[in-house]
Amino acid sequence: MHKILVTGGAGFIGSNLIEYLLANSSDHIYNLDKLTYAADLDFAHNFKHDRLTFIEGDICDAAFVKELFQKHQFDKVYHLAAESHVDNSIENPQVFVETNVNGTFNLLHTSYQLWMEQPRVFKTAFQTTQPRFLHISTDEVYGSLEDDGFFTETTPYAPSSPYSASKAASDHLVMSYVHTYGFPAVITNCSNNYGPRQHDEKLIPVVIRKALSGAPIPIYGDGKNVRDWLYVTDHCQALHTVLENAVTGENYNVGGKNEIRNIDIAHHICKILDEVQPREDGQPYASQITYVKDRPGHDYRYAIDPTKIEEELNWQPAETFTTGIKKTVEWYLKKYNS
Ligand code: NAD
Repeated sequence: MHKILVTGGAGFIGSNLIEYLLANSSDHIYNLDKLTYAADLDFAHNFKHDRLTFIEGDICDAAFVKELFQKHQFDKVYHLAAESHVDNSIENPQVFVETNVNGTFNLLHTSYQLWMEQPRVFKTAFQTTQPRFLHISTDEVYGSLEDDGFFTETTPYAPSSPYSASKAASDHLVMSYVHTYGFPAVITNCSNNYGPRQHDEKLIPVVIRKALSGAPIPIYGDGKNVRDWLYVTDHCQALHTVLENAVTGENYNVGGKNEIRNIDIAHHICKILDEVQPREDGQPYASQITYVKDRPGHDYRYAIDPTKIEEELNWQPAETFTTGIKKTVEWYLKKYNS
């Protein structure tokens, strides 16, 4: 049995990943999370399983991280803990550098010291377990596209927000450990995720929440910004596949080939709500959509070419946007109606 560390496991993707791993592997999972505002406290405290241990702690605390690795001897790491909201990174960039860059460095260096004797030589205890560090990153490191083209694994990095710059910096650190020390890391750069347990501040929960409360549904700028959406469980399956099968030092773009404009997302959700929970006055929810001042430096379009992960690792998303968004709206209806 492997000892798997998931950082940020009380957050949106991390909590879905833990459920996925418990159902699809026999390993013991350790969920390390600081429980920032973004964490789901219900999941952290109330989700119980005999192969799951919750540890409250900060990846920026180097001494704590070192002690934890010594104690539990993790041999696989899914690193998701991060500050993840672009708007917050514009208001308060410092914590993004601290968590996303320094926190990643602590985990990397501690894993290196636990697993390796010297560059390219594993300690005897880890020679057979084949340790692996999966760094979960974003397509936002590539910057913004015009109407044509896709991000591939060789697209040069051009991050444009403090969030994406901090993620880009952490990606570079990870790759530097691969090249310098032969450290067994892999990176995934994924497009926008959606699904259950995403924080209320993100686009899809905002649209549902505001619609149901009768408030204006805010859409940045002209709403024409395009994102490539992937259902969260499909991302989790990709992460499991990459950690288990990818060659050290590789990076994989993960995306659902679902390019949709923000304004179309809002209309799509409003239409589902019109059917499943119509407004009492009979008006369409779309009448609440309101354009608001654009986010500074708002990237126009992200689009992933997932050919590498599809061909090399045989990964394909199971959900279409139509099926995934329906499940997502149902989940938020239960949350916001209760
Ligand atoms: P999230 O904000 O929902 O969750 C982040 C989790 O990390 C929270 O539970 C938080 O408490 C924890 N955390 C924050 N700082 C910490 C610290 N210093 N120590 C320990 N734990 C800490 O984020 P998410 O949307 O689940 O994203 C997870 C990862 O996936 C991030 O690295 C993000 O960059 C990446 N990613 C997200 C998306 C997306 O669409 N959400 C897409 C691609 C990549």
